[in-house]
Amino acid sequence: MSKVRPQSSPKSKRVSAVRKSASGQKSLVRARAEAKAAIAEARRAHERLRDALDILPEGIVFLDADGRYILWNQQYADIYKRSADLFAPGARLADTLRIGVARGDYPEAAGREEDWIAERLMLLANPRGRHEQRLSDGRCILIEERRTAEGGVIGLRVDITEMKRREASFRLLFDANPVPMFVCALDGGRIVAANDAAVAHYGHGRDALLGMGLAELHDDGDLPDLADESADAAGRTFRQRKADGTAIDVALFSRLFAWENVPAALVAAVDITERKRAEARVAFMAHHDALTSLPNRVLLRMHMEEMLVRARRNGLGVATLCIDLDNFKAVNDTLGHPFGDLLLQEVAARLRSALGEHDMVARLGGDEFAVLHPDVETPAEVGALAECIIDVVSAPYSLDGHQVTIGASVGIAFAPVDADDADRLLKNADMALYRAKGDGKGACRFFEAEMDARLQARRRLEIDLRNAVAAEALEVHYQPLIALDRRNVSGFEALLRWRHPEHGMVPPSDFVPVAEETGLIGAIGAFVLRRACADAAKWPDPVTVAVNLSPLQFRNGALLQTVKDALERAALPPRRLELEITETVLLDRSDHVLATLHALRALGVRISMDDFGTGYSSLSYLRSFPFDKLKIDRSFVRDLGSNADSQAIVRAIIGLGESLGIAITAEGVENEADLACLEEEGCKEAQGFLFSRARPQFEVLDMLAAGSRRARDVA
Ligand code: C2E
Ligand code: CA
Ligand code: CA
Repeated sequence: MSKVRPQSSPKSKRVSAVRKSASGQKSLVRARAEAKAAIAEARRAHERLRDALDILPEGIVFLDADGRYILWNQQYADIYKRSADLFAPGARLADTLRIGVARGDYPEAAGREEDWIAERLMLLANPRGRHEQRLSDGRCILIEERRTAEGGVIGLRVDITEMKRREASFRLLFDANPVPMFVCALDGGRIVAANDAAVAHYGHGRDALLGMGLAELHDDGDLPDLADESADAAGRTFRQRKADGTAIDVALFSRLFAWENVPAALVAAVDITERKRAEARVAFMAHHDALTSLPNRVLLRMHMEEMLVRARRNGLGVATLCIDLDNFKAVNDTLGHPFGDLLLQEVAARLRSALGEHDMVARLGGDEFAVLHPDVETPAEVGALAECIIDVVSAPYSLDGHQVTIGASVGIAFAPVDADDADRLLKNADMALYRAKGDGKGACRFFEAEMDARLQARRRLEIDLRNAVAAEALEVHYQPLIALDRRNVSGFEALLRWRHPEHGMVPPSDFVPVAEETGLIGAIGAFVLRRACADAAKWPDPVTVAVNLSPLQFRNGALLQTVKDALERAALPPRRLELEITETVLLDRSDHVLATLHALRALGVRISMDDFGTGYSSLSYLRSFPFDKLKIDRSFVRDLGSNADSQAIVRAIIGLGESLGIAITAEGVENEADLACLEEEGCKEAQGFLFSRARPQFEVLDMLAAGSRRARDVA
């Protein structure tokens, strides 16, 4: 780059020319020229200032001490919608005010125009600082006026109409909002505004509220971070307190904004107390039993998982105890469900009080409970706990004016020895319980691997039985009932037989309970009824057929129709069908069972009570339904010859039958001695291996044919 040589300006040339002049004339000329230049310079500066002012968004005006316009910018003229020539230098504010008043620009001046103008002019002497002015067209102007050093006024005008409108709609949204809302200072959280909903909700008066910090509403006094707008849609939840001391849960939503030009937080407080309470209730209900408030199976399992993790860490065991109440069903049936509920609640309370603080007791359903006992060192300690549970539950109850006693059976399994996951542990404890129940009331059993094997076998049996039903592989055999006076067959009892492809004949005592548990009994029972009626229809009248009914067949409501169908299909007269039920059918005290029995009897079918003498309260059942026959259980018949007690019982039953007009049949007669005894006591009908085992239909037909031949021969 080349060096720039200094150049002489035209002005410096002129100055040197003047300097060269010697006369006073010359200096006058020079002074005039200089003044002219200065004025031109000042005008240029003025122009530049105006240009600069025109760029500003605010309107700006300078007035001298006499109220004459010195300077204004375009925005000033625009705000008042005046043409710029109105403000020609030298024009007075008073004149423009007068014109404006005449045009109706100042609504506040209406009716007092001269006074208003005078007031405005007065202000010039003493500017008001900042204030707002409303124009006739609805616009709102912010005015800021200050005195200048020369005694004039410099004024600023900003059109804040839009801002005012926004503020008004904010006001409306804020004040009338049904959600409690606050405006809080960002620094310290002081409440600077509160809407009506907030005043009403918190119960502090508005004045009290406005003096407070938001944190004072909080239970823990912690100030939420108001600047944190990141809270999700649910807001941040806090526990607060109302003026009356009530604790509430609120979700706070805060947004930053400018409140009267100061940064502030707009805070909405949504009361979620009810929602939280409802959520807590739902959560509790999902994990607890409604009747006893004990944890339910879901919570037990969750807890179990935790304990198993802990056990893995500390090397100690976890015991699971499954508890089933003995005799509960009978109490529930006899004294009614409301009483049963009371009893379960009392059992729950006793269990809870009998356990340590680290133990958990849950209700699994019905009369089944489970206890989790962590940190087990020896099985003996759990055995002792189980005994304690049995004792506590077995102590007599005095509830609602009744004295009752129930018992408990307990099955125990350990982690990690018996199982190391929650499901298996619970299952194994349940299996041990199953065994405990089978071993008699009040027993406690530890899980053994062999129980699992047995359960597996049972499960296989269930599958096989399903297949057998589907393939119609079940048979019905018939055992004769002998009329003792004539020594001939009066009827047959239908007994189920299952010829298993691998296990041979499976006795009904093995598979009927499986059928009952799996619901297969409905289909099987209907099959026996149809088969027995069809077979009996081929026997000579009046030989009867007796069919055993499971209590579960009374449950589904189809029994009456099933019996009718079986009779109709076989065209068997109802009087030739007997139905054998046990006392367990009557344990269900519902009207439905008795109604079904009466309806069956009304058909002409006879009803026998099976296994009489083995139940709980046989005599009372005799009153509840008019039985046609009692079958003395074979446990009394078996040792009739040798056991005086059995003899007394059989004698009593036969006497009872005679006086009530109920026929008596003795089951399980195996030898002549027992038969002789029975005959001596006046028994009229008997059944047992002494006469015959149950036989298939073709043998029965032979037997009947032979019998009638013999009868003919005798005749
Ligand atoms: P239950 O109704 O008491 O039937 C009589 C049982 O005693 C039969 O056993 C029969 O074979 C057996 N029995 C008969 N005479 C003698 C005897 O002199 N000595 C001995 N020791 N036993 C004798 P089963 O056939 O094994 O039936 C056992 C139980 O299975 C029946 O007892 C009954 O409760 C149930 N059952 C059998 N068939 C059916 C059925 O079709 N439906 C229902 N629900 N249960 C049935
Ligand atoms: Ca029977
Ligand atoms: Ca029986």
